[in-house]
Amino acid sequence: MEVRLKILYTSLCHTDVYFWEAKRQNPLFPRIYGHEAGGIFESVGEGVTDLKPGDHVLPIFTGECKECAHCKSEESNMCDLLRINTDRGVMLSDGKSRFSIRGQPIYHFLGTSTFSEYTVVHVGCVAKINPLAPLDKVCVISCGISTGLGAMVNVAKPPKGSTVAVFGLGAVGLAAAEGARIAGASRIIGVDLNPNRFQGAKKFGVTEFVNPKDHNKPVQEVIAEMTNGGVDRSVECTGNVDAMISAFECVHDGWGVAVLVGVPHKDAVFKTHPINLLNERTLKGTFFGNYKPRSDIPSVVEKYMNKELEVEKFITHQVPFSEINKAFDYMLKGEGLRCIIRMEE
Ligand code: NAD
Ligand code: ZN
Repeated sequence: MEVRLKILYTSLCHTDVYFWEAKRQNPLFPRIYGHEAGGIFESVGEGVTDLKPGDHVLPIFTGECKECAHCKSEESNMCDLLRINTDRGVMLSDGKSRFSIRGQPIYHFLGTSTFSEYTVVHVGCVAKINPLAPLDKVCVISCGISTGLGAMVNVAKPPKGSTVAVFGLGAVGLAAAEGARIAGASRIIGVDLNPNRFQGAKKFGVTEFVNPKDHNKPVQEVIAEMTNGGVDRSVECTGNVDAMISAFECVHDGWGVAVLVGVPHKDAVFKTHPINLLNERTLKGTFFGNYKPRSDIPSVVEKYMNKELEVEKFITHQVPFSEINKAFDYMLKGEGLRCIIRMEE
């Protein structure tokens, strides 16, 4: 059930950076990072029937076996077999790596390892997409854009006219803002510590900005004052646990829903007073915006093809693979959104 992909374009998501830094995540080295990518199906392992060489595909960091209780449920994308596992560095079938250097294994990352000209993935982690879709653009749909968009439209589900807060205005947060705009939200409040994010965020439908550093009280109180008691929906896309708590506590009692998306440090603990939940606020979380990779992602690519979803505005840089370190610099400095890395010079 394994396939070999030729990666043509990949991009950098903050999750790669956290596990590469390994400061507050489990270290596992040497390892090939990368999980947001587009490529071509190159060769097929035993048991694979529904893909053929030459198909255009997006590898996805979480899979869909189509057989387990999660895959059969309409409510879950947490496949029993292939759900995201940040600590596994080997293939499922034999517990071994498909990469090596001088006889020593190099570990996989998120079942995808796309910072490589070729990679081997489980067929359940591959979405076959429209061959006319430009891979240098739609590669960003394989993680960040779908995650933010799905967190808003599939999980937070803001009713038309609602007020929404988005914490973290990187690519994932701005995709969530885009989802709020598509859903017809009337106010979209962007929250970020980096003021450089605010100007560009207007293109994504963000109508108001809050920088927690500009206030001497908790940002949830600032937002409650701006919105007569709290927002109807909030989506957290920072990875910072304090932002997660604020994102929850800033939703209106009675009906507010908060959705956590950011990947926290391994020791982070979410603390809030239970009365905040008793007062009829809802806290949720999601991987990959609750999309099922194989069943749903081809249709997200179609939204791009039909011009319902713009992905170009998320792409701010492009570099050849030999200059991949520049992509890390941009992300660490908070410059731009997505940097596309071309495998061919
Ligand atoms: P990014 O670095 O481009 O954007 C994060 C933004 O959050 C930055 O602009 C930063 O200034 C801001 N920020 C950080 N701490 C903050 C705080 N305390 N308050 C307000 N803003 C703050 O990252 P990205 O690639 O957009 O990813 C965002 C998060 O989503 C990361 O944690 C990433 O690991 C996670 N992620 C989760 C999934 C999933 O399926 N759940 C998928 C992809 C990415
Ligand atoms: Zn499954």
